[in-house]
Amino acid sequence: MADLFDVIVIGGGPGGYVAAIRCAQLGLSTACIDEQKDSEGNPSLGGTCLNVGCIPSKALLDSSEQYHRLQHQFGAHGISADNVSIDVSKMQARKHEIVKNLTSGIGVLFKANQITAIHGFGRLMADKHVAVLDPETGKLKQTISARNIILAPGSIPVELPGIPFDDEFVVDSTGALAFDKVPQRLGVIGAGVIGLELGSVWSRLGSKVVLLEAMDKFLATVDHQISREAARQFKKQGLDIRLGAMVKKVTSSPNGLEISYEQKRKQHKLEVDRVVVAVGRKPATDGLLAADCGVGTDARGFIEVDERCLTSEDGIWAIGDAVRGPMLAHKSSEEGVAVAERIAGGVGHVDFNTVPWVIYTSPEIAWVGKTENECKEAGIPIKTGSFPFAATGRAKAMEDTVGMVKMVAHAETDRRSA
Ligand code: FAD
Ligand code: AMP
Repeated sequence: MADLFDVIVIGGGPGGYVAAIRCAQLGLSTACIDEQKDSEGNPSLGGTCLNVGCIPSKALLDSSEQYHRLQHQFGAHGISADNVSIDVSKMQARKHEIVKNLTSGIGVLFKANQITAIHGFGRLMADKHVAVLDPETGKLKQTISARNIILAPGSIPVELPGIPFDDEFVVDSTGALAFDKVPQRLGVIGAGVIGLELGSVWSRLGSKVVLLEAMDKFLATVDHQISREAARQFKKQGLDIRLGAMVKKVTSSPNGLEISYEQKRKQHKLEVDRVVVAVGRKPATDGLLAADCGVGTDARGFIEVDERCLTSEDGIWAIGDAVRGPMLAHKSSEEGVAVAERIAGGVGHVDFNTVPWVIYTSPEIAWVGKTENECKEAGIPIKTGSFPFAATGRAKAMEDTVGMVKMVAHAETDRRSA
């Protein structure tokens, strides 16, 4: 007979590992299945976020920002240094250590909370059974079952048709976090959050970065006043952002790679040394759901859930990047905690109006609640106020005066815009 748990979690990212820990804290016997491996081929908990997402990107953003500040901003403080250089392998080793420290920490937390960690690919079968398969061979390792199952498989990068990743020259975000040297010319397809963050890293380290963005509007979901100011600052920093640029193909050329794109109905070519494809992510639901498991996905592969994260099957829940809503680590974790509370008979709650967003460029862009444009579109009467950092003492003291704070409030009640 299959081992029986109170809860099985499939996926060990910020949604899955947080859900598993909360379930265990609430007294539920819990197993967590995850297939992720680190660069040395060892099982590594923490999902996209800790292994190849939030954490390594923030580590490189910080290293590259220190390097940039030393070269361009420290002079104003009276600090100068000769022969400033960057050792990319040391920078990558630091990133690796941070990731290792955090991912191994989850293993420690699992042990402390008596969670059964299982390395493998989990497939939801009928009658709340889960098959654990060897991620390489696809062979069945074991079958387990539970009263409740939480699906938290996360997401994977979208590949553009006809532009396959080759893990060396045409790469996804994971590849762009692992470059062993600074590419001289870097093409980034997609000027969304991930494209901008990775473009910033390599630009600060010396790459000539061109971002090709299909949409005419820059950062369309961001407050328009803020995105206009951000575009101005990024341009000043040397990021070449080309809007309305639809990439068609990437071919090899005698001197590197040639990106063909269409802009204003004209065909253009751009020669680069490496290409980062950052055109979005899709749910990692391939092979997750057996035909007779009772749970389905929508046309784009997202697992269908209600507002409580419950699927169409009683006791089967889904959270994080693989369900509707923003693809953000803290949103996944919040859903994980809420589902654990519901399973244990409590009340879980996630307020989607208060999920913060951050883009870790310089300056960073962060917001919570509805933007001015969203309020206007929804017909909500608002008043707005903004204050430039250039007029605040702290910002001046830090030599960091670019940007502003903006408030959007209801015109009559003064409540926040959410
Ligand atoms: P994931 O973190 O994707 O975890 C899912 C896990 O499940 C993975 O380990 C996967 O291998 C495993 N898995 C999938 N299917 C199976 C299966 N069938 N069986 C077993 N295991 C399976 N978000 C932020 O909030 N802030 C940031 O700064 C930020 N920066 C980012 C930077 C980059 C470069 C990227 C790529 C993403 C970033 N994100 C950021 C997004 C963030 O990483 C995700 O929103 C978050 O990881 C989603 O968590 P999750 O638990 O839903 O899924
Ligand atoms: P995000 O959704 O924040 O990950 O951003 C991905 C960005 O990639 C979006 O702004 C898309 O408009 C953009 N994008 C998608 N396909 C293409 C393409 N073929 N060429 C250029 N940009 C693209």
